[in-house]
Amino acid sequence: MPLVVGNWKMELSHKAAVALAKSLKSDVEEHRPVCEIVVCPSFPSLSQVSEVLKGTPLNCGAQDVSAQEKGALTGQVSVTQLGAFVSWCIVGHSETRTYAGDSDRLVAQKAELLLRHGLTPIVCIGETEDERHADETVAKIGSQIQSLLAVLPRVAFLKTIIAYEPIWAIGSGFSPQPDDVAEIMLLIRKMTQHRFDTPAAQRLRILYGGSVKPENVAQYVGGPYADGVLVGGASVHAGQFFDIIKEVEQSFT
Ligand code: PEP
Repeated sequence: MPLVVGNWKMELSHKAAVALAKSLKSDVEEHRPVCEIVVCPSFPSLSQVSEVLKGTPLNCGAQDVSAQEKGALTGQVSVTQLGAFVSWCIVGHSETRTYAGDSDRLVAQKAELLLRHGLTPIVCIGETEDERHADETVAKIGSQIQSLLAVLPRVAFLKTIIAYEPIWAIGSGFSPQPDDVAEIMLLIRKMTQHRFDTPAAQRLRILYGGSVKPENVAQYVGGPYADGVLVGGASVHAGQFFDIIKEVEQSFT
């Protein structure tokens, strides 16, 4: 089943986050989409948004997690604290990597921790604009995937969602050529096949993210393209997010 993830970043007040959750809930109740859907509000809204979404096909996820299981870590949120409300969590978003300095190794550690506690990690990877211009995209994605393959055994790796998000495409309005996205999907699947086997490579779920809109999403999903999308800016507008969900659904039917 295709997967659509909404990353609400730090865009919404608590009140607006709850209102958006209620609006999405009524959309999905009216038109039951054949997609798996996850929305990721900020930490303070997780409890109430997950309560609103309970019993609906919408899932709630977090935007990050501490790499430490517990301890005196001011400002951090642990996997068990998250587990009370959500079963999904984004890690390694480029904004987190930039502002909190998360390395590939730390991101892999976070993914492993989430999986050990029964949460599904959505691991973001992607190249910068400079890396793209220097023709280093394949090397960058290869080393990010390798960091995950180094710590995750087959079963854990297959529960992990990979989100390919070219950093230059995030929030910029620029988006890659669909064939370039397909090439990265193939690279990730080939690495998975090499490390594990062909069924693993086929089963792995990979998303595309970066300036996804209702108008451009169809070209990135289905067939050799992605198994779904990670949406930032457009996900905080119920109408746009739902239009993206409908487009993704159509691409798979
Ligand atoms: C994101 O934040 O993961 C993202 C893809 O943002 P946007 O859709 O706004 O580019």
